[in-house]
Amino acid sequence: MTKKKNNQVYVYILDKEFCWVPALLVEQSKEKATVVVTDYKSEIEITGSNDPPPGRSTKTVTVKLKDYPNSVLPLQNVVANNHNVKPVADMIDLSFLHEAAILYNLKARHIQSMPYTRTGDIIIAVNPYKWLNKLYSEENRTHYSRTLVWEAAKKDCDPRIDLPPHVYESSALAYKGLAISGVDQSILVSGESGAGKTETVKICMNHLASVVQQEHTVLDHDTASLDMNVITKVLDSNPLLEAFGNAKTRRNDNSSRFGKFIQLQFEQGHVNPQHLTLKGSECQVYLLEKSRVVHHDNEMERTFHIFYQLLAAPDPVKTKFWKPLQGKDNTHFRYVGPTDTHSIEGVNDSDQFEKTIQSLSLIGIDGETLKTFLQAICVVLQLGNLTFAEDGKDSDHSVIASTNELQILGTLMGISVDKLSATLTTRLVKVRHEETVVPLSPESAKESTDALAKQLYDRIFLWLVRNINEATTAGGDLESYGHIGLLDIFGFESFPVNSFEQLCINFANEALQAKFTNDVFVSVYAEYKEEGIRLEEITYDDNTHVLDLIQNRTGLLAMLNEECIRPNGSDSGFVNKALHSNSKSPALIIPRIKTSDVEFGIRHYAGDVMYDATGFVTKNQDTLPTDLMECAQSSTNEIIANEIAKTTTSACSRNAESSKGSPKRKQSNLVAPTAWTKYKSSLDHLMKNLRKSQSRYIRCVKPNSLKKPAVMEHSLTLQQLRSSGVISAVTLARSAFPNRLEHTLILNRFMFLLPSKHRNKWKSLNLHDPEDQKDASEMLLTQALEPLVGKNGVKAFVIGRSKAYFRGGALEYLESMRLKAL
Ligand code: ADP
Ligand code: MG
Repeated sequence: MTKKKNNQVYVYILDKEFCWVPALLVEQSKEKATVVVTDYKSEIEITGSNDPPPGRSTKTVTVKLKDYPNSVLPLQNVVANNHNVKPVADMIDLSFLHEAAILYNLKARHIQSMPYTRTGDIIIAVNPYKWLNKLYSEENRTHYSRTLVWEAAKKDCDPRIDLPPHVYESSALAYKGLAISGVDQSILVSGESGAGKTETVKICMNHLASVVQQEHTVLDHDTASLDMNVITKVLDSNPLLEAFGNAKTRRNDNSSRFGKFIQLQFEQGHVNPQHLTLKGSECQVYLLEKSRVVHHDNEMERTFHIFYQLLAAPDPVKTKFWKPLQGKDNTHFRYVGPTDTHSIEGVNDSDQFEKTIQSLSLIGIDGETLKTFLQAICVVLQLGNLTFAEDGKDSDHSVIASTNELQILGTLMGISVDKLSATLTTRLVKVRHEETVVPLSPESAKESTDALAKQLYDRIFLWLVRNINEATTAGGDLESYGHIGLLDIFGFESFPVNSFEQLCINFANEALQAKFTNDVFVSVYAEYKEEGIRLEEITYDDNTHVLDLIQNRTGLLAMLNEECIRPNGSDSGFVNKALHSNSKSPALIIPRIKTSDVEFGIRHYAGDVMYDATGFVTKNQDTLPTDLMECAQSSTNEIIANEIAKTTTSACSRNAESSKGSPKRKQSNLVAPTAWTKYKSSLDHLMKNLRKSQSRYIRCVKPNSLKKPAVMEHSLTLQQLRSSGVISAVTLARSAFPNRLEHTLILNRFMFLLPSKHRNKWKSLNLHDPEDQKDASEMLLTQALEPLVGKNGVKAFVIGRSKAYFRGGALEYLESMRLKAL
């Protein structure tokens, strides 16, 4: 069978190495498909066209469809009748909506420096890994806001129609939503580490700030209400949070090690309610990765930026804050250690420090407060330099070996060396109102010092966040403001070993996913309604059972909290109980082959994850022993003393130690909120805020692990599209009717399928009339898809006002008929 080139049928076939590759379909039956594939050497060669790169051989392959039912997918874009991938701006416009089509569409756009693609109202942002100046030009910013905010009302169609997809669309629409409806708005940005969440949030925030400024020009309103100081402060809070909460990791040189939700506060104009003025912002942070203070992978990673910035400052600046810093750099502090990286995103640590100091001063942290603040950071640094040795008498006893370092720490904290050394090498244990001093082994003493450093840094970070908020919040009655919230939160995580942090992170993602699915469903519902289609058909799987498993009354975290207040509670005790009381949950994975008693798994919406519960109890308790806290509280550094005092009022010493060799502490009656309880309540607060708002979604995708522009690794990308819910959103949107085509396209493409007598009839009619188009399309499809009518009389398509919606296989059937006819 020979065919002219433009009549050839191209498909995607499943491929071990490249996930999906384009291939030429030679023959297809129910049992098998014969295709011609090119012997590709790399992903870069595969552009979605089947034209082999020069010098590549091809081979003919037969795929047994019985064994691999979904291994051959029709290649987009049938409408264009072009075997090259013609990128579409909105995935919904792909006639064949499956993951291969989504992947190649994104790839084609990515290569052509178009990082943004729509899926209905969702923006997919592929990290371009190079700054695309034109995309973020002032001109473009104005263009989006003008079109979407001020001119939209004049159009009677979707105002986005002439605009290429962009995150400016999300910010402009959020602004407009708030201005016109007065309903709070939110932009939810998600994606894995390095996908571009933090940059995207900054891009949106900058755009919102420029819309505010532009509005004053466009509407020529009282310029007095435009407070540039507020705008600068709000925008500046980002780099400040980054200095203290970001670090270089393997995956991202400027990786945020915490989640954040920034709410911009707007006041509506008194004269014109649609006129918004930015009054301030408030930021909530989640789960700072405090373990990074005491440990990071020295070869590829760094600890938090601020340490390097401080240590790279010129000597006179350093000594102004703390004399012993003079002449010292990162190599002098164990927690920081050596590093090859001395600049992040092209700015060196020393210059960055100057910027940090400026931003701090903008929010009122200067003079003595600044000194106290930076000295608190130095305490953390200095704690890392203490070393412990066995006390000559007994290996269970320890002494601080680095007496010099201890001396420096003592002066810095304003605590006597004796007190410090006693607190750090022993533990006070209360048993039935009697206090006993138990010595700590060198390992336990080191562990407890690290725990203090982590806790201190966490508190200092929260102190900073509070100060930023005090300086940026509009104050007064918060309810009177309109809000646009921007969420920049860690995506779903699944590593070779998953711990408490991953469980917390994945729980947040489940909660957000539940909202996402619900929102997508609501918009699909609206589309079908608009098209006049009945809705009984659409159902979707939700993830309630996963949320239940985690947060129910007998769920995993209730069990963990319980274990944390039980005397001698343990990680294995928690797992044992959790597995028992949730054995019926479809979301729980009970390991079939038990290799340890601290293992369990969860069937998350984004995939199965096995968790290792080692350290869960300690991490959840998240407190320091009382004597350690009391010692820190006696510091002359006010930030340290006050921040630690805040915990001691509610906390207590509990049986926190799961580490080897350390003595068990007895539980007291006071119960402090666990890490989980605090986290859950901040998440509940977030979800409450989000539910009140109209949400828009930006899904960030990291296209390759090389951090290089114009490269897309298929498997890495697909795995993110699946776990970000993009594929399932699309599938959900199209679950009942996977394909849809506009009536005009159907008529153009398939008219020949009609018997000639009908064809003539329709030709004589006015096919420019939408009603006629609809009738003609219905008639054509009724005839052509007759063989697919089910036993129960269910047709293979439904007719909407402007489009026909096809059940699975129907459009493919039409295409195969077309192929035969050609
Ligand atoms: P995440 O917050 O998801 O971990 P970031 O926002 O920090 O990721 O982005 C990681 C890096 O990717 C940035 O430091 C920057 O180099 C690059 N990047 C992200 N978004 C863009 C963009 N829109 N344009 C150019 N480069 C970007
Ligand atoms: Mg980030």
